[in-house]
Amino acid sequence: MLITMRPGVPKENVEKVIEFVESRGFAAHTIVGEINTVIGAVGEKTIDPRDIELLEGVAEVIRITSSYKLASRTFQPEDTVIEVNGVKFGGDHLGLIAGPCTVESFEQLDKTAAALVKSNVKILRAGAFKPRTSPYAFQGLGEEGLQMLREAADKYSMAVTSEVMEISQIEACEKYVDILQVGARNMQNFNLLRELSKIRKPVMIKRGLAATFEELLMSAEYVLSGGNKQVLLCERGIRTFERVTRNTLDLCAIPVLKKVSHLPVLIDPSHGTGLRDKVAPMSRAAVAAGCDGLIIEVHHEPDKALCDGAQSLYPSQYDTLYNEIKQIAPIVGKTIL
Ligand code: PEP
Ligand code: MN
Repeated sequence: MLITMRPGVPKENVEKVIEFVESRGFAAHTIVGEINTVIGAVGEKTIDPRDIELLEGVAEVIRITSSYKLASRTFQPEDTVIEVNGVKFGGDHLGLIAGPCTVESFEQLDKTAAALVKSNVKILRAGAFKPRTSPYAFQGLGEEGLQMLREAADKYSMAVTSEVMEISQIEACEKYVDILQVGARNMQNFNLLRELSKIRKPVMIKRGLAATFEELLMSAEYVLSGGNKQVLLCERGIRTFERVTRNTLDLCAIPVLKKVSHLPVLIDPSHGTGLRDKVAPMSRAAVAAGCDGLIIEVHHEPDKALCDGAQSLYPSQYDTLYNEIKQIAPIVGKTIL
C-alpha cells in the first residue's frame, strides 16, 4: 500500500501514519521527496484503506496488491484446468455445458439429453433447487429432481451441473452433482462458500447481479482458502439500465478476469441476454474473446418450459452453434471436445 502525504505536512503527521501502519502489522518504508513524502506499507495483513485516509495529512492511499491471493496469477501464474467427464475448462481448453434451466420431469431431461448427446454434450445442466424472484413461481423439484438429473445423465454417460442454494443442500448435491453451481443471488453467501470450500468437487460461482470482478474473485477466494482448488468463474450478465435484454452480458469479464486470475472463466449467454436469438451471437463472441467454457440453456420444447423458455435454445439451434464454435475455438488456440 502506498500512502502519499500532503505537501509540507509536519513530521508528526508522517510519524503518526507510520505508527498506525506498524501497529497493524505492516512494515513502513518512507521516501521523502522534494514535494511529497510517500510511505510504503508492506505486509500480509488486511487493512481498510479508509482508516489511513482519515489520518491527518494523508493525501491518497493506493492499494498495490489485490485483496485476493489464492485466486490471483501472482500466486499461480499457470492456468487452472478443471476436468469433468473428459471435458476440460481452462488453459487451451474450452468446455461446454448445456441443458434446461430446471428439472421438470425425467421425460423432459431424457428427451433433452438424447438430443444433446448427438451434439457431443458431456455435461448436462439443470437446476433442482431454483432461486425464483416470485415465491409463487415453480421452485424446483429438490432432491427428487437431482435424482432424475443423475439418472438421465447416467443414461447418456453425461456429468451434471446443478445449483446449490444453501448449506443444507450440499450433502444431496455432493451425492448427485459433478459441478456445484453457486447462483448469482448467492455469490456473496459467505457461509455457503465456506462450506463449499470443504468439498472436493468443482464449484462454479456465478457473478452477482451487481457484483464487481473483485467481489467475484473474493468469493472464489473463500472456496480456495478452505482447500477446494477447483473453482470456475461464470459471467452471466449484470443489471444495467438496459431493458431490451434481461441482463447485460459483460464479455470484458474474459480478458479482465483471465489477466488477474488463473481460474477458468465461463460465460452464460442464456441468462446474460434472456432471449434465444441473442444466445448464439454472444456465444460466438465469448469464444472469440477466449472464454474457457460456455453454459447454455437448451430445452427439447422451450415453448413449454416451466422456467426460462424464452432464453432456451432448441436442440437443433444448439447443434448449429456447436458447429460454429468448433470453427472459432482453434483460431483463439482452444481445443474443444
Ligand atoms: C440458472 O443457471 O438457472 C440460474 C438461476 O442462474 P443465475 O444464478 O445466473 O441467475
Ligand atoms: Mn435459468
